[in-house]
This record gives sequence, C-alpha cells and structure tokens, in this order.
Amino acid sequence: MIIAIDGTLASGKGTIARRLSRWYGLAHMDTGRLYRATGVAALNKGVNFENPAALAEVALSLDLNDYDEDQLRTAEAGQAASKVAAVPAVRAALLELQRAFANQPKGAVLDGRDIGTVVCPDADVKLWVDASVEARATRRWKELSEKGETLSLDEMIAQLKERDERDRNRSDAPMVAAADSVLIDTTHLTIDAAVDKARAAVDAVIAQKAERSGP
Ligand code: C5P
Repeated sequence: MIIAIDGTLASGKGTIARRLSRWYGLAHMDTGRLYRATGVAALNKGVNFENPAALAEVALSLDLNDYDEDQLRTAEAGQAASKVAAVPAVRAALLELQRAFANQPKGAVLDGRDIGTVVCPDADVKLWVDASVEARATRRWKELSEKGETLSLDEMIAQLKERDERDRNRSDAPMVAAADSVLIDTTHLTIDAAVDKARAAVDAVIAQKAERSGP
C-alpha cells in the first residue's frame, strides 16, 4: 500500500506521515529531506544556484548520511531547499530514488509536495494536509526558537509565504492538491485528531480493497 501525503510547510504532514508509517508498519520517506540536503550541500560547496546542471549533479551525488537533522531543519536550509526544488533538473535527479522507495514490496508512506501528483500518481491513499498561514508560521517559529534561531514571528510569516509562493508557482511539479486527495485541515486540530482523520481515510481504502477482493 502506498500512502502519499502532500501539503504545505508546517501543516503537520511530517508528523502524520511518521505516525501512519508506524501504525501500518510501512517504511517512511520524508522527501523534503532530499531537497533540504541538496540545498545545504549546494551551499556548502559554493555551487551557483543559477546553474541547473551543477545543482542536479549535487542532487545525484547526495549521501543523506552526511547530514543530521539539526543541519537540515534550519530556516536557511528550508529556503535553499525551496530554491533547488524549483529547478527541473534537480527534481528529475531525485525522482527515481523516490519511486524506487515507494515501490518496495510492502509499499511505503511518502510525504512531500508532489507525491500524489507526480511521484506516485497511482498511490492507494492520497492526503492533502494544510492549515492557515498564521497557525503554520506559529508552529514553525516555536520549533526554530527552541533551537535558538532568532527569527521574529513576522519574519517567519514572510518566509513561509515566500516559500509557499515559490512551491505553488514553479513550472515543474508545482505544489497542488491531487484531485483525488482527502483534505485534512489541521488549523484547529490537535496532532492526535489529525492522525485519527488520516487513519480513517486509510482504513476506508483498506475496507474498500477487502470488499473488492471478496470473501
Ligand atoms: O517539507 P519540507 O519543508 O522539508 O520541504 C522543503 C522544501 O523542499 C519545500 O519547501 C519544497 O520546496 C521542497 N519539496 C518539494 N517536493 C517535495 C518535498 C519537498 O519540492 N516532494
């Protein structure tokens, strides 16, 4: 079973993905890490962000073990990720890796921006997770403040809007809800309530499959 979870930044999609992967015993890939690591590697190597071929080279030679969570979760890494993610050659370089992960025998949970639309258009379950800009910015701002980043909430709102805009308006694989996705708006939901909704959507698909395959 392939579960595709897409949605906006700090909507809660990553937490939902991790919890579903544990609940259903499926492997999980946070595809944002691929773009974050590509962005951080390009910054570290001093690669010109206007050079698509050089950025694609960075994506192809990526070793995720080179990066720990702290390096990848900074605001700078997020900005760099959304810039390299707008480069079609980078997306192409990372596509097969994601598809191969999704197509493992038991299936998998993948979360990102284009899983249900581009990476796994035939996924069994597609979720679209979103929340208001204010709710998302406040969550991310708290998370980064606890890690010692000195960004104001207004700066966070501005960064988040800028990243949303870039993700929505890029020509290749723009961030958009798949037509057949189930919407989960987490603005006023606790994480447990959001996970319950996600599980209900997955369970409905499992029940349908069981019905179709008969007794
Ligand atoms: O989800 P996360 O914030 O870690 O993603 C970082 C950036 O990577 C996003 O802003 C987006 O530009 C890019 N991304 C993407 N496609 C994905 C996952 C992430 O374009 N499937």
